[in-house]
Amino acid sequence: MKEDTYLSVHVGKQKHIALIAHDGRKKDLLNWVEANKEALSHHFLSGTGTTATLISEQVGLPVRPYKSGPLGGDQQMGSLIADGKIDFLIFFWDPLSAHPHDPDVKALLRIAVLYDIPVANNQASADFMLSSPMMNEEYDHNVLDFSARIKDRAIDLVKEGN
Ligand code: PGA
Repeated sequence: MKEDTYLSVHVGKQKHIALIAHDGRKKDLLNWVEANKEALSHHFLSGTGTTATLISEQVGLPVRPYKSGPLGGDQQMGSLIADGKIDFLIFFWDPLSAHPHDPDVKALLRIAVLYDIPVANNQASADFMLSSPMMNEEYDHNVLDFSARIKDRAIDLVKEGN
């Protein structure tokens, strides 16, 4: 098999940030967003339904709402990442409860790693990441070139007679 090739993906100064919190962590995320309101106001925000609505109503920042997590919102976030429309994820998931949509959560975290998206899963990570000077700079990261990989795979499969 050929070596993987990578594409350079450009992220502008203003980041598209997705905000998600499980119920047991919503209060923590709301407090964190409130404490970082000014910094976050320079970016484009979106989130799963309940989280986005709570932030908009209680903190007063515009957050574009998608479906609620258990109703497909996490999958929508993953799809936006795959389409290059989210470049930063803050996801306070609850390590102390099981959720009906645990497979969706796992899928979202996998897609975020695959697309080289910075992910903060707790407050300390979010603090370190948001205070990075890179938050306000442009950034180019390397993402696997899937189209080249698919092409090679298709050729290999034909050769193998599948
Ligand atoms: P919610 O979804 O913001 O609609 O509560 C978050 C989640 O449970 O993944």
